[in-house]
Amino acid sequence: MTSNFPHTDIFTVALGLESPWVVTNVEMLPSEKNPEKMEVHIHVDYDGQGSYCCPQCGLESPIYDSREKVWRHLNFFQYRCYIHARVPRTNCEKHGVKLVEVPWARSSSGFTLLMEAVLLTMLQQMPVSQVAYQVGEHDTRLWRLIHLYVDEALSKQDFSEVDAIGVDEYSHKGHNYLSVFLAHPQKDGKKARVLFTVEGKGKQPVQEFVEVFEAKAGKVDKVADITSDMCHGYRNAMLEGFPKARLTVDRFHVVKMMGDAVDTIRRREMRSKDRSKIRSLEGSRYLWLKNKENLTAEQQKQLELLLSTEHLDTTIAYNQKLKLQGVYEDCIDYESAVEAFESLCLELSNSSISELRRIGKSFTRNALEILNYFESKKTNALLEGFNSMISLIKHRARGFKNMKNFMAMIYFVCGELELPKATIM
Ligand SMILES: [Zn+2]
Repeated sequence: MTSNFPHTDIFTVALGLESPWVVTNVEMLPSEKNPEKMEVHIHVDYDGQGSYCCPQCGLESPIYDSREKVWRHLNFFQYRCYIHARVPRTNCEKHGVKLVEVPWARSSSGFTLLMEAVLLTMLQQMPVSQVAYQVGEHDTRLWRLIHLYVDEALSKQDFSEVDAIGVDEYSHKGHNYLSVFLAHPQKDGKKARVLFTVEGKGKQPVQEFVEVFEAKAGKVDKVADITSDMCHGYRNAMLEGFPKARLTVDRFHVVKMMGDAVDTIRRREMRSKDRSKIRSLEGSRYLWLKNKENLTAEQQKQLELLLSTEHLDTTIAYNQKLKLQGVYEDCIDYESAVEAFESLCLELSNSSISELRRIGKSFTRNALEILNYFESKKTNALLEGFNSMISLIKHRARGFKNMKNFMAMIYFVCGELELPKATIM
């Protein structure tokens, strides 16, 4: 069954088309793949008059011939919609035969610009596979769109105003290291964003980043602050690349180190032969890991009970973790932070618990850079939730198997790239 719409002019207006483009025909046809379903097919043509611009140099050139092209457009109600057009090819003296640009789509895409904009918005919220299912497209087509868009947005990156950088690494099951470089929020209002990510860790990725940074108008001497973890792999290389910068050990890493120690100590006590210890600690893992305010009333009661049990190393370590968090939250200036932090380091270093002594050593060694936080107030906040963000991205990118997709997804979700704005159709 084919039914022709008589009012093609209305479609021309509704789609925002201007001369030379006009809608010549609109028809509803059963889908080839699924004849039960009807589809809308809109046919667009050019009026065939005059000349068109060569897409490479923009100079007017005569028409050589034309090609039939099809793009998927937004659905009309429940009907899939396709736009068919005869697209002229120009014959430029300099560049030869080229397909002209149409105002509703890019030549390399099978979607209209509006469809792309909607897909990209969906893809920022949902896993690729889910979007693919919902819109009835193969996910490889959606990945192609993501790469196209990310590559284009990356080519326009401008680092000229970046004056504070964070660096972090992410590993997947102890291999597949990924280094991530981010910009801290800028004075001009730009939000924190991922600038660059590359496989590997330590010196080599930093050198690659510095190269990219300078190529994108970044000024190394303008960078006044760097945040990183405590490991020296990045630190020295970053300070070499950005010689004017002050280094702050990111507070998230400092607190995490302490949290990890609490967990290590809890596991050690669980393995001990002491039955009463084991009984008190059983099933308590999350009580120690989560922030107190995120626990349920029942869990808080349980934790209070555990904290009053003095024979546990875990409670001692936990209390030190609270003290550390208190340093970050309560110290209003550098001087009071120095005092509170030094007293904490002293307590840790003199602790009877070896795990805490080790942390005390590490904190003392890095005290200057840890305390820089109270002057710079810089954190890798964007990456603070990075572990959970990574698992979200991993989910969206279907894991690490395809590193190229994985990295594109990091830029896509954390790069603060501008989504294309479709003005036509
Ligand atoms: Zn040309």
